[in-house]
Amino acid sequence: MSEPTRIKLDRTVCDGFGICARHAPKYFSLDDWDYASLIGDGTVAEEDHDDVMRALFDCPVHAIVELRSTATGSEADAPRSASL
Ligand code: SF4
Repeated sequence: MSEPTRIKLDRTVCDGFGICARHAPKYFSLDDWDYASLIGDGTVAEEDHDDVMRALFDCPVHAIVELRSTATGSEADAPRSASL
């Protein structure tokens, strides 16, 4: 069984385009200025994977990154490779 996809959102990078919340509204909420917040702890359910990856790849400022577990058990940013 594979590990669930985990993501994080860097709100200091977000530029308020609002695209992520359109693709994956269960995972991203927008404030009054369309700046995003992550809903939940970043764990992505299998059935939502494609929607969240679409949000990740369509974010114009790369504020959303996928996390990968390392051999030491810590998490690191994964390269933005296509995994749809
Ligand atoms: S798509 Fe990117 S820039 Fe736009 S609101 Fe989401 S995180 Fe922010």
